[in-house]
Amino acid sequence: MTKIVVVGSSSMDLVVTAHKRPEKGETILGQSFKTVPGGKGANQAVAASRLGAEVHMIGCVGEDEFGKIILDNFKKNGVHTNYVKPVTHIETGTAHITLAEGDNSIIVVEGANQCVTPDYIDNALEVILSADMVLIQQETPEETVEYVVQICHEKGIPLLLNPAPARPVSQAVIEMATYLTPNETEAGVLFAGEEPKEAMKKYPNKVFITEGKKGVRFHDGEKEVLVPSYPVEAVDTTGAGDTFNAAFAVALSEGKGLQDSLAFANRAASLSVTKFGAQGGMPTRAEVEGSL
Ligand code: ATP
Repeated sequence: MTKIVVVGSSSMDLVVTAHKRPEKGETILGQSFKTVPGGKGANQAVAASRLGAEVHMIGCVGEDEFGKIILDNFKKNGVHTNYVKPVTHIETGTAHITLAEGDNSIIVVEGANQCVTPDYIDNALEVILSADMVLIQQETPEETVEYVVQICHEKGIPLLLNPAPARPVSQAVIEMATYLTPNETEAGVLFAGEEPKEAMKKYPNKVFITEGKKGVRFHDGEKEVLVPSYPVEAVDTTGAGDTFNAAFAVALSEGKGLQDSLAFANRAASLSVTKFGAQGGMPTRAEVEGSL
């Protein structure tokens, strides 16, 4: 079994549906309210575990009800939580999501996710150093991302940086990460001032730009390659990127070739959009293999 260590965010999504957004100072009646575990780190950890990897999460929650639900959810999905620390001085991270008029508006409160500092990482070095692959995103403080990327680079541990949400990244991080998986918007921020296609060419077999239902594009050193996704009836694309990243990391760490790993990731991600919710749609290994 391949061992994946995820460094990242865990939060509770608080989702309200309403016919419209309230104006400033206005109170309106909504239709429904749901709480769903989320956060890019947690989503990727759950997806990788469903795909058959041994997954260890490194993160922080508050010592509160949301924190307990998140920890339970990790356990239900087989994710190891020895390095998910409940902290007392700050609440669990939350995402306040309003679904109205066919679109969503989101306020994210980082909360305990801010506590995933370089010092915190020092207490989890043992598990990082035992990983077949480390998976990290950008809902974690910038200095922590840099620290983890540097450790993995020095120790020769493959690391996949999913640079989401978009945030500028130092040249050193771009050079040291083994794999980078921006979507098209994130690629624009990551390689500011440069054509993403040129950046892809400069970093062959390293930069993989996801393009939604089209699939994923990279440069193989000789030519640009588009690995197409699979046509599906999309119900909810939330979490497609998280499923893609988890599946890509699992396949690579199992020693699959690049093209096979990308096809596996596309398949898992395309299945994930056929069901509601980020984690709700994440497929199991059997589901992905049964459909390939
Ligand atoms: P999100 O933020 O919605 O989780 P993202 O913007 O990070 O996603 P996308 O490029 O939209 O990432 O999608 C990631 C991958 O998911 C794609 O490369 C593809 O494999 C798959 N995918 C996304 N949308 C669809 C779709 N409608 N049909 C099939 N596959 C899809």
